[in-house]
Amino acid sequence: MIKNDPFVNATKQLDDACKILKIDQGTRDYLAMPNKIIRVKIPVKMDNGKIRVFTGFRSQHNNDRGPYKGGIRYFNPEGGVEYMEREVMALSAWMTWKCAVVDIPMGGGKGGIYLNAKTEKISDGELERITRRFAFTISEIIGPQKDIPAPDVYTTGREMTQIMDTYEKLHGVTNQPGIITGKPISVGGSLARNVATGLGAAYCVREAAKVVKLKLKGAKVVLQGFGNAATFTGEYLEKMGAKVIAASDSKGSIINPNGIKTNNLLEYKQKKGSVVGYPGSKKISTEELLTTKCDILVPAALENQINAKIANNLKCKIIAEAANGPTLPEADPIIYKKKIIVIPDILANSGGVCISYLEWVQNNMGYYWTFNEVAKKMEDHITRGFRDTYALSKKHQVDMRRAAMVLAVSRVVEAFNQRGLWP
Ligand code: NAD
Repeated sequence: MIKNDPFVNATKQLDDACKILKIDQGTRDYLAMPNKIIRVKIPVKMDNGKIRVFTGFRSQHNNDRGPYKGGIRYFNPEGGVEYMEREVMALSAWMTWKCAVVDIPMGGGKGGIYLNAKTEKISDGELERITRRFAFTISEIIGPQKDIPAPDVYTTGREMTQIMDTYEKLHGVTNQPGIITGKPISVGGSLARNVATGLGAAYCVREAAKVVKLKLKGAKVVLQGFGNAATFTGEYLEKMGAKVIAASDSKGSIINPNGIKTNNLLEYKQKKGSVVGYPGSKKISTEELLTTKCDILVPAALENQINAKIANNLKCKIIAEAANGPTLPEADPIIYKKKIIVIPDILANSGGVCISYLEWVQNNMGYYWTFNEVAKKMEDHITRGFRDTYALSKKHQVDMRRAAMVLAVSRVVEAFNQRGLWP
């Protein structure tokens, strides 16, 4: 029995959407389970000459709308290897829904290796051998038209390049960059990838602001987790006229009601290692940060941050979930009752997968777009995703999280019905 099984949570969300859409039990069962989940042995010779065996996974949830798409993480969740299997299954399902909600012609996948390269002090050479052996082991089930991995927790463009290189050598080809996304620019990566998630979240906020009739000029923003996603969400919201008044990281939270320039805060964090102590700011607790009176709250750190108690005390108009799963299910009905509009994670942080898709398209064409061209194409996907979700939330009288799932599930079911079952 797995504690807090993420796959059970993912399936509950699917069940909710199936109920609203009146989907039959057989189709629901088809959508719940991944198409395939493989668990592989990764034997590697370590620097000390000894063999160590790691465990890796790839879950391929659904490919009715296009090839599987999703990250590869190097992580060791507390629940152990068995928990990790359930986690990648859940994450692969969420990738299916995330791609569908912003209408990307791809399905859902996720994978990873049970290890922590940071705490275990695995050398660069060892990490490369682990990565290449994993790529070798799964090379038959991935491919530019089959399953396209990407970076995830504790993996970067470096590992993606090693996977690409291993795949190309195994298949006797020299130019197959579409096997993987999140690559460095020099080997076929896309411009705008580094800002993608924040820029996408900012586009979502802009659309939500129209709905709640909030003027972005002067709107107050609170950022939880001043990392990649939060920094660029803040920066682009500033460009749209908003003002960041509070931010946090793993070391603490700060506020300055007069405004904090994200560029300056980033510079400070890079020098001092934290946002705490930023000149002119006051230190506050996490709870105070989340319940600060503001217009836009951007949880961009960890899951399970907004519980029922925090939800009752929220004083914002829009929540943009840049992080995955920052709101507990118990908080959703409270937030809905308070008429706060939530941009759910599968929509708010879909900028990353949008640009991954656009990277793959550029790789397939062998022709590369400018930053503005990529950003514009992403904007089209995200704004349509937001408007379609909002329309369904009104039609079914449900919150935006349910509406996003309804939209995603209906799109996958439509593709499944078009294809039919064979053999
Ligand atoms: P990151 O590592 O760049 O930043 C994470 C930030 O959160 C760091 O500043 C860290 O100090 C802070 N943090 C950690 N624990 C905290 C705590 N208890 N309280 C407050 N802050 C804390 O990571 P990221 O890429 O920005 O990802 C953040 C979230 O966004 C994650 O949930 C991730 O899954 C999600 N996300 C990111 C992307 C992306 O492309 N970056 C895409 C989709 C989803």
